[in-house]
Amino acid sequence: MDQTPPAARPGTLQRWLTGPRFGALPAPAELPAPALSFEFFPPKTDRLEEQLWACIRRLEPLAPRFVSVTYGAGGSTQARTHATVARIVRETSLTPAAHLTCVGATREEVDEVARGYWAAGVRHIVALRGDPPAGASGYTPHPGGYAQAEDLVRGLKRVADFEISVGAYPETHPSALSADADLDFLKRKIDAGATRAITQYFFEGEVFLRFLDRCAAAGITVPIVPGIMPVSNFTQMARFSAQCGASVPEWMGRLFDGLEEDAETRRMVAAVVAAEQVRFLQANGVDEFHFYTLNRPDLAYAIAHLLGARPRA
Ligand SMILES: Cc1cc2nc3c(=O)[nH]c(=O)nc-3n(C[C@H](O)[C@H](O)[C@H](O)COP(=O)(O)OP(=O)(O)OC[C@H]3O[C@@H](n4cnc5c(N)ncnc54)[C@H](O)[C@@H]3O)c2cc1C
Repeated sequence: MDQTPPAARPGTLQRWLTGPRFGALPAPAELPAPALSFEFFPPKTDRLEEQLWACIRRLEPLAPRFVSVTYGAGGSTQARTHATVARIVRETSLTPAAHLTCVGATREEVDEVARGYWAAGVRHIVALRGDPPAGASGYTPHPGGYAQAEDLVRGLKRVADFEISVGAYPETHPSALSADADLDFLKRKIDAGATRAITQYFFEGEVFLRFLDRCAAAGITVPIVPGIMPVSNFTQMARFSAQCGASVPEWMGRLFDGLEEDAETRRMVAAVVAAEQVRFLQANGVDEFHFYTLNRPDLAYAIAHLLGARPRA
């Protein structure tokens, strides 16, 4: 509660002139277009396959640096991830990155999957420890498997000279012993051969900027690319965030409150929220963005456009 007597409070004009406002951010036109990447998941049905390919075709003209395809929890989508990535190589101008995890497979099996990617022309892997399959209690390394992402990075480098990206957690991985230990393991993944980290999504820009500072202080010099999640289904996202350690600010709950049955307004709100987030990051010098598209192109396309990305012939 503001205890200042009314006469001493700044008037409307003074507040407008001196207070923080969105318009104070530089116009994207003054900044170089950012480097983009888009993440997809492999489809389960013919209808979802069509949706994915419509999404890929819509985003392709934005000429992202790479597009990545996830690997289902417990390694459950191995064949579908491979088929999707191989089709991207064959039928598009895009550079794919295949996600690969340590879960549910021996080292030899994982190496074999990686060799299959190399043979299919895939040169970039997003190397992750992986989450256990639904219903499993906690993560247990497969006997004879790679235990952590760090081991996987090292193993992949032995298979072939892949470009390797790894995951990073601005709000600390939920099972980490401490924030510092988590950062130490990130550094170890990079020392093992990764050349980029892509973050778990987050919603407060300051969280990411603070994380960048901590990475720099820990001697991490590779690019840390913010993972951007445009939120079109708030309820679902809030549930998922609780599991993966991304905090959902209260103001976001208020913005989406009452829109549970109104998908169209939700999408407009989602676009504004994501636009403010990326513009804040861009104004603070961030020039690379990774979008979690959920195989829906519109929000990612609109936000990329706001950042200055334009289709190339
Ligand atoms: C960009 C991105 C993409 C993702 N894509 C997928 C996907 O396609 N499929 C999927 O299943 N999951 C995916 N995930 C989720 C990811 O698999 C989980 O977050 C998983 O729990 C951790 O994976 P990691 O590679 O970050 O693990 P790690 O870096 O191995 O870390 C996991 C935890 O173990 C700790 N740790 C690391 N090394 C050691 C060690 N040597 N000893 C003790 N503790 C250690 C870390 O501090 C951390 O708490 C993705 C996550 C991100 C950020």
